[in-house]
Amino acid sequence: MLNDDTNSVARVEVLIAAARRVTVLTGAGISTASGIPDFRGPNGLWTRDPDAQRAATLSHYLRDEDLRRRSWQNRVRWLGSDPLPNDGHKALVKLHERGQLRAIVTQNVDGLHQRSGIEPHLVHEVHGNLHRSRCWECNDRRPMAQAVQRVIEGDPDPRCLLCGGVLKSDTILFEEPLVPEVIEAAYAASEDCDVLLAVGSTLGVYPAAYCVPRAKEAGARVVIVNGGPTEMDALADEFVTGDINTVLPRLCGVQPE
Ligand SMILES: [Zn+2]
Repeated sequence: MLNDDTNSVARVEVLIAAARRVTVLTGAGISTASGIPDFRGPNGLWTRDPDAQRAATLSHYLRDEDLRRRSWQNRVRWLGSDPLPNDGHKALVKLHERGQLRAIVTQNVDGLHQRSGIEPHLVHEVHGNLHRSRCWECNDRRPMAQAVQRVIEGDPDPRCLLCGGVLKSDTILFEEPLVPEVIEAAYAASEDCDVLLAVGSTLGVYPAAYCVPRAKEAGARVVIVNGGPTEMDALADEFVTGDINTVLPRLCGVQPE
């Protein structure tokens, strides 16, 4: 699966081994091997299912109760499927254990970096986290499992226990503003690293993708690992293609078992 990039794999291995601070930017591609669908790709959830795209748009979600009911059924299924971290996530844990990990900036909402063993304060989730619910009215946040349990027990559209407002997942929907503090932390980590390692993202969704030029301008080496071309390839010092779950452990110096 390494195609013709054997040389670039070897060079990146050396680059990462020598780095003092690595900031990693992750997208959907690192989680597909955990059974979590890509949202925007050609076979992505939003591409194949217009209803899923509507459910991911704030104005539709807030005004359409039927859509919310279907969203809750999806959350019941999603939490029940219990996706687990894969070898790609685990490779980044090795960086963390060696004291090289500055931060992970992720576009994913699956919480798998934390579940793999990365300390939560090192994970900047620019699009939020599906494991929490949030009230649109009063911002009350709780574990998603609590709301999902209410759905299982027969409430098709559970409301906020404090104020009765509409509950959503604590993720950023279309039309919804990002959290400025999270974006600032993501930029700061990108500007304070020797290597910016972008994994499994086409780097076409902003502002997360701005981490790449920011790191580059601050003097970091940019390494892109992805199954196909990205919109930031022109900024890459190294580009490695191939199966992320095979190639990322190698790049991070994890010996095959
Ligand atoms: Zn509320």
